[in-house]
Amino acid sequence: MSIFGLNKVGKCRVCGCTNDDPCFHPDHGFCWWADEAETICSHCACEEIANDPETVHCVNSKECETFDFPGYENVIVHKGNTKGGKK
Ligand SMILES: [Zn+2]
Ligand SMILES: [Zn+2]
Repeated sequence: MSIFGLNKVGKCRVCGCTNDDPCFHPDHGFCWWADEAETICSHCACEEIANDPETVHCVNSKECETFDFPGYENVIVHKGNTKGGKK
């Protein structure tokens, strides 16, 4: 018998972000899971954040692009960083 409700995905079905590759918004910080199964992240689930042009999805996948926000010098996303870490 499989255990119901514990098969977490850990990947956003909208933008494809993971714990190692989160989304970032200058006001809200890194994304966190918006559902228990971890299939959608906060920055996709929340329309206000999702529609904000400042939202960057999957930051580690986009490290080639310019990634500097006012007040956030050289935002470094460490591999294995926990979601929702906000300074
Ligand atoms: Zn997402
Ligand atoms: Zn995300």
